[in-house]
Amino acid sequence: DMSELSPTIDPAPSPIDAPSSPPVDRAAALPAWRHKNIDLLRRLLVGGYFIAACTTFLAVAVYESHPLNVGFLVLGAVNVACAVTLAFGRQLPDGVVKFFGISGAILFVSAAVVLARPLGPTPLYYVWPALNCGYFGTRRDARVASLVMSVAFAAALLLAHGAQVPVITYMSVVSFFLVVLVAVQYQAQRTDVLVQELAHAAATDGLTGLLDRRAFGQAFEREIERAHTSGLALSMVFFDLDHFKEVNDGFGHAAGDEALRAFARILERECSVTDLLARMGGEEFAVVLFDAGADAAKQFAERTAMALAHWSRQHPPPLTTSAGIAVLSEEAATPSQMLTAADRALYAAKAAGRNRVITSGQGTARVLVAA
Ligand code: GH3
Ligand code: MG
Ligand code: MG
Repeated sequence: DMSELSPTIDPAPSPIDAPSSPPVDRAAALPAWRHKNIDLLRRLLVGGYFIAACTTFLAVAVYESHPLNVGFLVLGAVNVACAVTLAFGRQLPDGVVKFFGISGAILFVSAAVVLARPLGPTPLYYVWPALNCGYFGTRRDARVASLVMSVAFAAALLLAHGAQVPVITYMSVVSFFLVVLVAVQYQAQRTDVLVQELAHAAATDGLTGLLDRRAFGQAFEREIERAHTSGLALSMVFFDLDHFKEVNDGFGHAAGDEALRAFARILERECSVTDLLARMGGEEFAVVLFDAGADAAKQFAERTAMALAHWSRQHPPPLTTSAGIAVLSEEAATPSQMLTAADRALYAAKAAGRNRVITSGQGTARVLVAA
């Protein structure tokens, strides 16, 4: 009787995010792996501020009894203060560290330009914010830094030289800054894309695009923790296609692959975005259903089996699946315990003649799809 197996959609939306949320606005956000490097930026800045302080004190020593030496001493002291703040400020918010990443160089160059003309090599210090923003910053950070740096440098030159602003010097310094920044940011973003692609390839199965066994294991662990803290039910379904060897033998390996892909699409369609879906190997698939108890899991498994039957009525290989269900409980409280329980139920479904769903700890099951 097909009518009692008609699809029932679980009406309660799950309160959690999808396991892999889509990428956000690239201009405003950094990937997590690069975000961790903010501590590296902090340490680099300690070095940068320390070098700037040394340079300033050296200038005082070289240009002895210069009337502007007081200004240089103050500048040196500010640089030391920044270096110390950063050196001991492990808990500084990211925004503050990034702010130090551009403000110091701008302060240093501006002061040096105003205090000591001619320019000398001080504009070289702009390489610091260019590298910092290029590597550690978002595109928005880079835009802000470029603007602030261009305006600050123009203002310092105007203040120091009045009408005789060295325009060529200004253009060279600003373009140098922009080229370094753009080149470094381009490289960093290329690396982001490659890391993303590698992470995706490492976590997914090439044939179906579902999670692979390893990634599934990690995500499963997190889901169980979530279920424990939220008190919501969790169940898992283990599918194994029936007599799949015969499908390969009778219809060819390519048709077998096609059927596996089709089954993956069916699973995706039948489960919700918050569920975990994996190809565990060969023709074995696992699904973790969040906020679903035994009944909901059974409905899902039967719905999926019906959809597979529907698909295979329109495509050559006649396919059925068996499924074993395990529900998070005291006896099945860890990923491996749940997998073992689901696997045993699956084995029971196979032994009982295939083409059926059995829930661990519950009795027998009827045949799902009439041959
Ligand atoms: P049953 O599960 O009902 O006991 O029988 P079965 O024939 O499905 O048993 P088994 O699990 O031993 O066989 C799985 C077969 O799946 C073996 C292999 O030829 C096939 N297979 C595994 N991986 C792939 C794949 O990536 N592509 C294709 N086309 N076939 C695969
Ligand atoms: Mg099989
Ligand atoms: Mg198998």
